[in-house]
Amino acid sequence: MSYDFDLLVIGAGSGGVRCARIAASHGARVAIAESRHWGGTCVNLGCVPKKLMVQASEYGDMVDDSHGFGWTSTRGTHDWGKLMAAKDREITRLNGIYVSMLEKAGITLLTGHARFVDGHTVRIEPSPLAPDEAPRTITAERIVIATGSTPVKPDIPGAELAITSDEAFHLPQRPERVVIIGSGYIGLEFAGIFAGLGSKVDLVYRRDLPLRGFDEEMRSAMAEAIDARGITQHRHACSTAIAKEGADLVVTLDNGQRLHTDCVFMATGRRPKIDALGLENTAITTADNGRIKVDMNSETAQPGVYAIGDVTDRINLTPVAIAEGHNLADRLFGKGPARQWCYATTPKAVFFSPPLATVGLTEEEAARNGVVDIYFTRFTPMRHTLTGRTRKTVMKLVVDQKSQKVVGVHILGDDAPEMLQGVAIAVTAELTKADFDRTIGIHPTSAEELVTMRTRTRETPKAEG
Ligand code: NDP
Repeated sequence: MSYDFDLLVIGAGSGGVRCARIAASHGARVAIAESRHWGGTCVNLGCVPKKLMVQASEYGDMVDDSHGFGWTSTRGTHDWGKLMAAKDREITRLNGIYVSMLEKAGITLLTGHARFVDGHTVRIEPSPLAPDEAPRTITAERIVIATGSTPVKPDIPGAELAITSDEAFHLPQRPERVVIIGSGYIGLEFAGIFAGLGSKVDLVYRRDLPLRGFDEEMRSAMAEAIDARGITQHRHACSTAIAKEGADLVVTLDNGQRLHTDCVFMATGRRPKIDALGLENTAITTADNGRIKVDMNSETAQPGVYAIGDVTDRINLTPVAIAEGHNLADRLFGKGPARQWCYATTPKAVFFSPPLATVGLTEEEAARNGVVDIYFTRFTPMRHTLTGRTRKTVMKLVVDQKSQKVVGVHILGDDAPEMLQGVAIAVTAELTKADFDRTIGIHPTSAEELVTMRTRTRETPKAEG
């Protein structure tokens, strides 16, 4: 049986593009189908525009902070339209880079929505990216689904009045008041963006602390940082309805409160994007949340069809999707050993201001394995000794007492993600507290605290059960 291609990748996001490029570099005949944006969520509706907007939101405070250093600058006003236009220009540039990178690699680009006809055949139909393109049918020996994820809204009355991150990147103007529902990555990052640009932000979440799943002590530190940023937190609260009242939107909470606002932003998670993929024409199976089920090798229940990235709902982060795509292409088409990654020490960052970055185990997770030594420090970073801004840096080392390996590092503070990337190598390499101790610090930095925390803050006993 001969196929049009050795590999067809569905979805030109971070994972799909890496998979296609590596497969092509191994000599495979590769095609990639994309229905919406070259570069996928990360480039168009995620990491890249988000980070640019976070950076935009930090300049106002920087102007105020400069006064402590003798400057007399004034904030002025922020031009939202100019920011959106600048961001869109950069994204268009990146879209072009993705297309030329794929073309240079000899990959066939198929614009349109891909739908399975069977396990080796896909129909490419018109989509927003190519509304006038004639449908065509493609066959491939192997197919990789890399279609990513899409935001979800809770099913409450008036949910259609709320936006998600998809729309937040293209608002015609900045809302003066925003109610954000959800305190995960997206909720916190956009709360920080809007607050920094001058909006009044109400953050509504149903737990005691934001960022479920992160280290408890760091969650508390983040809650304080949210307060310090002037954001109003509504804990233990769920939105039950959204309604339009005159010019206002009104969010009703289950505690009886009614919040008047200009914009309701649902940051309530994402779901795998499998709509109209024609999975029913294959043996592919999905979980209740729509996640495509895969084995250790990223292969679905349909032999020869694989899935990587958010559509599999494993660790939903761009670099993980890239790693999965690269590893899969190496395994399918490479001559040598496939490049491997350590997913257990995947570093994570929440780009609030200040950001939180973390690698390895939380204190609670580590204590399930045995007694833990905790090294904790909280200090005013040097810059803020002159600015007078209430902004603390918090650092925490989680050390397995028996082996003395540093099994987790957590930092909340300016530049935390930049500091943490290097530390993630140390944690991946399973270095010990003694290795941290024998490393000379860089003075004067906040990062040097990572190698100068000499006195154990406390011992955490092994958790029961
Ligand atoms: P998260 O899963 O991180 O957070 C979802 C939030 O919504 C939680 O606070 C959750 O509450 C709440 N929530 C969920 N359902 C409801 C509901 N019905 N009513 C009220 N609250 C609800 O999702 P995000 O949308 O923030 O991000 C999706 C994923 O995208 C992340 O998990 C991450 O993998 C990735 N991402 C990564 C970024 C980064 O690396 N910086 C940036 C943005 C996204 P509870 O905790 O109580 O369940």
